[in-house]
Amino acid sequence: MVTPGMPGAQVTVIGERVTITRICQWCNKPASIEVGLDSFNEWCAGGHAQKVWPSLSAEQREIIISGTHGECWDLMWTE
Ligand SMILES: [Zn+2]
Repeated sequence: MVTPGMPGAQVTVIGERVTITRICQWCNKPASIEVGLDSFNEWCAGGHAQKVWPSLSAEQREIIISGTHGECWDLMWTE
């Protein structure tokens, strides 16, 4: 599945669960996260990550949005 706005993202759908795997642009290691199919479709339709996944942490949402680990994101801004 190719998802617009998520370059390099690998999306695997198993039943009602979607696993999104991206390569962190900071450390080049894979970052993956599992979300529900319904919420994923909402996100693809232009939903706001914070609204679609209120229960995820900011770090987890960051993997979906930018493909960056939470801890790498922190490093990026403290360098
Ligand atoms: Zn990383």
